[in-house]
Amino acid sequence: MTAAHQASSPSAREPAPRNLTGNALSHEVPLLPALAVVKTPYFHLLGYSVAGEETVIQVPELNVVFDIGKCPRPMLTSDFCLLTHGHMDHSAGLAYYLSQRFFQGMTPGTIICPIGIAEAVTGVIKSWTALEGKAIAHRVIGLKIGEEYELRKGLIVRTFATRHTVPSAGFLLLDRREKLKPELAQQQLPGHILRDMKARGEKITYTLDVPLIAYTGDTSMSETLLQDGVRDARVLLTECTFFEPGHCQRAAVGHHLHLQELMEALPKLENELVLITHLSRRTYLRWARKTLEKAMAGLIIKPRVEFFMDHAQKLQVRPGKAAAFTPVEPAATTDAEDV
Ligand SMILES: [Zn+2]
Ligand SMILES: [Zn+2]
Repeated sequence: MTAAHQASSPSAREPAPRNLTGNALSHEVPLLPALAVVKTPYFHLLGYSVAGEETVIQVPELNVVFDIGKCPRPMLTSDFCLLTHGHMDHSAGLAYYLSQRFFQGMTPGTIICPIGIAEAVTGVIKSWTALEGKAIAHRVIGLKIGEEYELRKGLIVRTFATRHTVPSAGFLLLDRREKLKPELAQQQLPGHILRDMKARGEKITYTLDVPLIAYTGDTSMSETLLQDGVRDARVLLTECTFFEPGHCQRAAVGHHLHLQELMEALPKLENELVLITHLSRRTYLRWARKTLEKAMAGLIIKPRVEFFMDHAQKLQVRPGKAAAFTPVEPAATTDAEDV
């Protein structure tokens, strides 16, 4: 057997990986932050969220991306960007998002945001237009708290109140259906009778709103989570930036949630899944996971509670080999990503 064959044999001992200066690497390290992918029975959630760095979370099936801290390529495919507030880690990707969609011949992107920042968002795009020397086709829609916008037939976005250091709003996505009134459904009336009733102007249906996803963006108000539609959305994406016991004051000053406040709200939540976003970059995920487990011990809580970034894909990189994404199921998560 030649030396080359020996080197490629799986049983052959591979040399320890080395970096560019020839020093041995103790383990493989990702070169790029990997996106989290969460599969729910209803839709996928794809993105990245670390406080102060970047938050961007896409729901591909619903054609939306919540916030746009940066603009990873998959986010371009969503027609609507729901921007909770103007902090850079949530908004810096918006000009790139709009520009790239335009450049690639896609329909103009739409930014939906709290009405208090709509003018500033338009101003940013105008400035970028001046820099680029050409107009970027786009739409900016400012919504008041509680106001709705129909994204497509039967899919509604509604804003809800949050409290942060700048104007802000959370977003609730609703599946809106017109259902036959129960008393008429019970009678099992034939279709032509129902059509006649409708033609006479009788109301034969009622509106059923199913809250699909609530996304808080940044907020300091645990009551945020208890609002109708938010506490009972199938999936709740909530920020919880601070976990350390001594960081309550820090959370209050920056208008963020602390674990203690999340714990007060959790027993009242009716969601199927709560995903924690926006963890401080100073906090190790492994430690936060253990701290959360301890805090939840003995409590009767309906939702499954997980960290969004616990679903981050592992980007395995070996010197001299092509990088490949290796999705890892949450159950197989190791502590390795925390270091
Ligand atoms: Zn933030
Ligand atoms: Zn913020």
